[in-house]
Amino acid sequence: MVSQTIDLLKEELPVDQQPLILSGDIKTGLVLVDVVNGFCTVGAGNLAPRQPNRQISRMVDESVRLSRVFAEKKWPIFAFLDTHHRDIPEPPYPPHCIAGTEEAKLVPELLWLENEPNATVRCKDCVDGFLGSIEEDGRNVFIDWVKNHQIKQILVVGICTDICVLDFACSALSARNRRLLSPLDDVIVYSHACATYDIPVHMARINNDVIAHPQELLHHIGLYMARGRGAKIVSDVSFK
Ligand SMILES: [Zn+2]
Repeated sequence: MVSQTIDLLKEELPVDQQPLILSGDIKTGLVLVDVVNGFCTVGAGNLAPRQPNRQISRMVDESVRLSRVFAEKKWPIFAFLDTHHRDIPEPPYPPHCIAGTEEAKLVPELLWLENEPNATVRCKDCVDGFLGSIEEDGRNVFIDWVKNHQIKQILVVGICTDICVLDFACSALSARNRRLLSPLDDVIVYSHACATYDIPVHMARINNDVIAHPQELLHHIGLYMARGRGAKIVSDVSFK
């Protein structure tokens, strides 16, 4: 039933995807969205997967692969870490990624980014990383990163496709259109390096407190929405 729905959805809401080959001709920055334990590591917290999840594991593996290549080539990396103050809730979500806990840390395979000279690590206390990049003095750390590195395109990966990845991509596209991100031309979302969480409908029916969130459907809808706002969606990323 669910797979039929997905097939139908993909027909009605198609998402064109091309492979992307990066050669270094176009200055590219990698943006990692919330590849933290609290969203990716089994049993790590209220919003972490309860059991191993294929889509999330694939997203982490691809994020690690891309991060390694970008670091090797000395291409810029920007990593968002969802991080919240203990006393400031983020409705409608239960407490998660509290500052200073393991939940708010990058997954073990990416912890090296904390000491990587080409990486900028940014803690954010809201869904949208673009807003989460605003400092108290009004500066925006993400805008500064794009301008300092003269980035022409960003490759966006991480979790959740339909929440933090989508909101960030939409804001980056709006900011680009307002010429706030010059010289940025393209926001590219890499589908196989994105993931979302899974609450199947049958689980939501048992527990009235939770809202159904079928993973494959919402992953696809997230990509569709990002594409509708002007993001390019790619199915595969390789390096020349
Ligand atoms: Zn959060």
